[in-house]
Amino acid sequence: MSRTERLRAMSEAHGAHTYHPLPVVIAEAEGAWVTDVEGRRYLDMLAAYSAVNFGHRNPRLLAALTRQLERVTLVSRAFDHDQFGPFVTELAELCGKDMVLPMNSGAEAVETALKTARKWGYEVRGVPADSATIITFEGNFHGRTTTIISFSTDPEAKNSYGPYTPGFRTVPYGDVAALRAAMDETTVGVLIEPIQGEAGVNVPPSGFLTAVRELCTEHGALMIADEIQSGLGRTGATFAVEHENVVPDMYLLGKALGGGLVPVSAVVADEDVLGVFKPGQHGSTFGGNPLACAVAREVIAMLRTGEYQERSRELGAHMHRRLGELPSDLVREVRGRGLWAGVELYGKARTVSERLMELGVLAKETHETTLRLAPPLVIEQADLDWALDRLEEALSSAATSDPARSAPREAVV
Ligand SMILES: *Cc1c(COP(=O)(O)O)cnc(C)c1O
Repeated sequence: MSRTERLRAMSEAHGAHTYHPLPVVIAEAEGAWVTDVEGRRYLDMLAAYSAVNFGHRNPRLLAALTRQLERVTLVSRAFDHDQFGPFVTELAELCGKDMVLPMNSGAEAVETALKTARKWGYEVRGVPADSATIITFEGNFHGRTTTIISFSTDPEAKNSYGPYTPGFRTVPYGDVAALRAAMDETTVGVLIEPIQGEAGVNVPPSGFLTAVRELCTEHGALMIADEIQSGLGRTGATFAVEHENVVPDMYLLGKALGGGLVPVSAVVADEDVLGVFKPGQHGSTFGGNPLACAVAREVIAMLRTGEYQERSRELGAHMHRRLGELPSDLVREVRGRGLWAGVELYGKARTVSERLMELGVLAKETHETTLRLAPPLVIEQADLDWALDRLEEALSSAATSDPARSAPREAVV
């Protein structure tokens, strides 16, 4: 048995089977590259679903983390500490808002936003008790808690976890008329991914985010932008809502906010919204801890330079140009923005991701037929081109080994 096989067997035997990982066991990583336990190197084209936007073990972030490790790591919110004030001030400024409520995981930020919207609805808007509704979209992914999966439309994520939390209405993503029809005097918020990541990097029709903003303003509902995957440079802007010059009432951040080193999430909004919380009404033991704040402050400082957004914009344009040139009998569609793409295939994306792994590139399928590409924003153009060459190779070898995987003849224009 190889070292890889031995470790995979342990993971399978004693780790609950909530994931179907590629059969690679990573031991080390730096920048856009990872090394497995056999010493084989791979280019990481997933970046932990955008949590590693700044590359593995980014030196600036590692330095911030180690500096803080030598000072203080956790005091709970029972006491203030010298990283908290600067962190909430700097993140609020990055978002152009007044206040920050720090949590740890993305799902916790989403839960916090749902609680905020309801409390704000009852206490500020005067919605009758326990009647608030929040609108969500088909294909959404906002995390794994019982309330969040209550409005999931993915049976895998939702089934067998009932009874479900009431108070949500779900409408088709991109459908302005359906959204308008679903909104009424009970609507306190609209929860939206500016680009749906997990659903396959779905970019909404142009003008949709603007329409959501206008409908929220018209109905006095909060526009809640879940930028946990789309934000912090991924699409070529700090926030994906910027592509339509839309300003939501709440930003939900996570993933890359922790620099790939620690879990950090946050809800960011103005005081008339986040001001609804008084002491004892919400909280988190680890939320806003010194280590998390120190790392996130460095992430914010790096984003302020605009360098990562620009890399994503330029390298992303190059990547999408090349993806657009892939053979149309193998690729149905390419979606995305910046260094983020959903490559829609005719055959199983899993076969392609497994073939890519053998060629030294790590990417992951989402659902059956979509290959998701989201390399760290620090990737070198030569490495990106190398990965795209490997993708061409993987696609054509998958098609040769199984002719049924390519487009039916009538689909080839
Ligand atoms: C990953 C993700 C979440 C959940 O984040 P966790 O840290 O896994 O809880 C929520 N929303 C979006 C859009 C995400 O991509």
